[in-house]
Amino acid sequence: MNKKKTISLVAHDNRKKDLIDWCLTHKKILSKHQLCATGTTGRLLEEKLGVKIKRYLSGPIGGDFQLGSSIVEGDIDMLIFFWDPLESMAHDPDIKALLRIATLYNVPMACNQSSADYFINSSLMNGNYQRKLSVLKSYKQNRSTFNP
Ligand code: PGA
Repeated sequence: MNKKKTISLVAHDNRKKDLIDWCLTHKKILSKHQLCATGTTGRLLEEKLGVKIKRYLSGPIGGDFQLGSSIVEGDIDMLIFFWDPLESMAHDPDIKALLRIATLYNVPMACNQSSADYFINSSLMNGNYQRKLSVLKSYKQNRSTFNP
């Protein structure tokens, strides 16, 4: 993970205001990094922050999958995902998949404002960082035992 990181931002509708406020508070730091987001979150953040954000499709129509795919490709360094703990959604399976794949690939993930605060103020933000992929490695090793 380089000094300049690719930070992905996602918020469900009831959490979008919180994410926008958080991004405005940390705009100076965030603008030093590459930002990407699911469709609606990205559009709102571009408007409010005035910074360029790579946009995936809206979450409910596949944006969470696209973001998950970018994680698998190794293109995402961090996920800030303000998901809604009080509502169930039509795309709950996609949300679960995104959270699962981010966990599997050991992507730092903040799901609320206080953990996002810890992230953004971490000294690790300012340097290189090598994520360990031990869960993934042990899966691959076990599979190769089954399929020589
Ligand atoms: P949105 O998607 O940014 O397009 O609203 C977020 C989500 O529901 O996963």
